Amino acid sequence: MADASSDPTQNDTDASQSYAGFDVYCHECGYNLRGIETTRCPECGKESPALQNADPRIPWIHRKSIGSVRAFLKTVLFATFSPRKLSEDVYLQIDFRDAQRFRWWTIGVAMFWVVTSTVLFFAAGPYDLYLGHIVNDLYQMVWPCVVANILILLYMILATGVPSLFFDYRDIPVNLRNNAIALSYYCIAPLTWWPLPVVVSILIFREAPIDIRNRWIAIPLTTIAVIAPATPAILWCFQIFRIARRVLRNQTGRKAWLMMGIPILWMLAGVLVLVLIPLAVFYTWVLIDVLS
Ligand SMILES: [Zn+2]
Repeated sequence: MADASSDPTQNDTDASQSYAGFDVYCHECGYNLRGIETTRCPECGKESPALQNADPRIPWIHRKSIGSVRAFLKTVLFATFSPRKLSEDVYLQIDFRDAQRFRWWTIGVAMFWVVTSTVLFFAAGPYDLYLGHIVNDLYQMVWPCVVANILILLYMILATGVPSLFFDYRDIPVNLRNNAIALSYYCIAPLTWWPLPVVVSILIFREAPIDIRNRWIAIPLTTIAVIAPATPAILWCFQIFRIARRVLRNQTGRKAWLMMGIPILWMLAGVLVLVLIPLAVFYTWVLIDVLS
């Protein structure tokens, strides 16, 4: 790969950089700039970041030099706060295995939170939690919680793979398609800080009772408490849609299908993994118990 140059004096007559080895695309019009030896897109005339800097800006790809943990944290911030830059990187060369590895790291961190909250749930004692008798009954049984954790992991693996299905069209250039799928794994970064808005929501519900007299405080506060836990998923969808806007240019039907299809498939996967599988397991368990 050509060395990434950030020299600001570089202009479009500089023919020293050629990217003939792989496909990169114009961020304006999506034109394939493979082999172009200037920094301008010949189709629309715009200066192309793809031609000025051949390396994606995702910090994760530099983890060998800056360290995996640091690269991971920087990438989480990058994917959370720079959605435009992240989506522009779809026109550069995105390594699929790097993206997969980032996906596993993210799922690992998210699972760490899930397991931690399960352990806290057992450590805190059920009666302090004021959550009703069903939860208190659950507290008596360790196994349902272990099974639930495994199912949540399974669900996360399924859910993080869902967006990649919506870029798999044969008429999209294969590199662009692969880049979009790889980038969709970086979009799951908000999963790492999911506990944050959940804690905010719990604190609001516990500390600020909904029957506050002043409705101008109560209504926004309740709205924040209700919406907050969903913000990582909303952000995740938003990032995916930004990528889709670049990859599925002028294809309104496909973009609409992506917008509806991702939440629908998330829900279907949720019903399958978190409802149908536990029911099947429970039924088998009861059956074995009755027959033995
Ligand atoms: Zn162009």
